[in-house]
Amino acid sequence: MADPAFLSNDSNFSTRAIHEGSEPEQWNSMAVVPPISLATTFKQFGPADFKEFEYGRSGNPTRNCLEKCLASLENAKYGLTFASGLAATTTITHLLSNGDHVVSMDDLYGGTNRFFRQVASRMGIEVSFVDAVNVMNVESAIRPNTRMIWIETPTNPTLKLVDIAAITEVAKKHKDIFTVVDNTFMSSYFQRPLTLGADLVLHSCTKYLNGHSDVIMGAILTNRDDLHGRLRYLQNALGPVPSPFDCYLVNRSLKTLAVRMEQHMKNGLAVAKFLEKHPSVEKVIHPGLPSHPQHDLAKRQCYGHSGMLSFYIKGNNLEASKKFFKQLKVFTLAESLGGFESLCELPSVMTHASLPQEDRDKLGITDGLIRISCGLESSEDLIKDLDKALRSAVQQ
Ligand SMILES: *Cc1c(COP(=O)(O)O)cnc(C)c1O
Repeated sequence: MADPAFLSNDSNFSTRAIHEGSEPEQWNSMAVVPPISLATTFKQFGPADFKEFEYGRSGNPTRNCLEKCLASLENAKYGLTFASGLAATTTITHLLSNGDHVVSMDDLYGGTNRFFRQVASRMGIEVSFVDAVNVMNVESAIRPNTRMIWIETPTNPTLKLVDIAAITEVAKKHKDIFTVVDNTFMSSYFQRPLTLGADLVLHSCTKYLNGHSDVIMGAILTNRDDLHGRLRYLQNALGPVPSPFDCYLVNRSLKTLAVRMEQHMKNGLAVAKFLEKHPSVEKVIHPGLPSHPQHDLAKRQCYGHSGMLSFYIKGNNLEASKKFFKQLKVFTLAESLGGFESLCELPSVMTHASLPQEDRDKLGITDGLIRISCGLESSEDLIKDLDKALRSAVQQ
């Protein structure tokens, strides 16, 4: 599936997704699927003399299998999993102390934005929200007490791309600053920020990595021994760990990540190209379209595109959007993304309703901006569904 428009992807990605961490020799039965190990405690040879596991919060065999596989797919040395993406965000923020400063973006996942503004701020952590598309804005927001740069690319829902390599360059001029990239929208298959200089990668596994809309989970990947040690300590000390059953489910989902992502990309591009020509559409935002302002950056830092895109419906108003959603049959009106089923939503009143109106206006999150997560259905059916809904929502 090599597309000359992108960086060429690792040829053994799917092999690692299937085998890494799941070697049958690890358990007596030689089962090819990791057992779901529900035990909360593990027998010790003598006091404080145990084989590998001690207590279920500090380590679990099923979780270990998943963490090894996730690390491999992100080209990371270490992987850690959490009860949700936000639990992973919370844990990373606990690397900081009262009085520390964070440089982040104005166009962030709503839950991350809410956590920084409403929760971290009460712990004495200050956050600056800048337009990180221009690296200069990040650089000039850095203060003597800045300890973390937090970026997300592509952004949500306006799909702006941030230059990961350029930002990590800036961070590396300061020895106390680490860079975090929320890689949820691309998955480990289409973007690997650690290879571009990032210190930590965060995923909401709830989205593409699990991809079946049935698990809430988060992950952190890193190559840094020091940060891994501190995060492993916090994973146990704070306690936001995932269940062994959920670890099993996400690990199973990783086996098909490569094929799913290829199909999400195909469907996303087909839908974007269709919408771009549609008379009821004002504008389409998809990094794979030459009309996207950072189309060239996408080719430099990504291996492809996920199934995410946004568009402005003609008239750009709530009435048109509401009519559009009412007519859809294949797409489901719902929050979230990255699952096998196609979803669409209205960020201004759903995922991004908690943003102040002023910020929404600045970012272009209007009542006519519709976000789509293309699933794995036939692209013909997706296009037919959109066409019908658009025609009835907007009178030509
Ligand atoms: C969903 C999401 C999160 C939060 O993850 P949860 O698993 O819902 O806690 C973080 N970042 C992005 C980009 C997301 O889409």
